Amino acid sequence: MTRGTWTRRIALTAAATAAVTAMAVPAGAQAAPATGIPTVATASVTAAAAAEDVDYATWQADVRAVMDQARPYLEQRIATTTPGEKKAIVFDIDNTTLETDFGFSYPQPANKPVLDIAKYAQDRGVALFFVTARPGILSGVTDYNLKVVGYKVNGLYVRGFLDLFKDVAAYKTAQRVDIEKKGYTIIANIGNSATDLSGGHAEKTYKLPDYDGQLS
Ligand SMILES: [Mg+2]
Repeated sequence: MTRGTWTRRIALTAAATAAVTAMAVPAGAQAAPATGIPTVATASVTAAAAAEDVDYATWQADVRAVMDQARPYLEQRIATTTPGEKKAIVFDIDNTTLETDFGFSYPQPANKPVLDIAKYAQDRGVALFFVTARPGILSGVTDYNLKVVGYKVNGLYVRGFLDLFKDVAAYKTAQRVDIEKKGYTIIANIGNSATDLSGGHAEKTYKLPDYDGQLS
């Protein structure tokens, strides 16, 4: 399968959005946060180029190994019921729930080992929230993509206008805080980048491979 094209497309969209954003914001207001914008786009392009080194079968085996570690914990945690508790799992999207760098098609295929875990949880009443650095312009296609491959989407967080000025890890942490404010207990946070998982606000974190940043 061809890899990376979708990632590059997203990076270009983000870059274009950032360029428009930079023009729209008054000069004084954009001075401080503007340094973060080109970093995000550049990192995505670099990751897409380097991802050519990663083998699909190896990636799937590595993902499966992490989900096999998560499974016993989730089975036990989901079975532990506390009155009034609303359980949630937070997922990253690219190269976590969907085969982004390996799935150049639309809709993108589900990342099967992660879908298996998600289905186990959603079938038992756990809410699934998806937190992505994808820009808001991709919200509709992303929501459709997740649902058509089998995920139950209780909430999808994409980056809005002001989020483009924030550090990705800080943005993602803020969304988990928002999910908690809605009354959910986040029993697990699953992603493939360090920025998906840092910042707390989850009982457990599970790190899928990014091969030193090669997979977005
Ligand atoms: Mg990712």
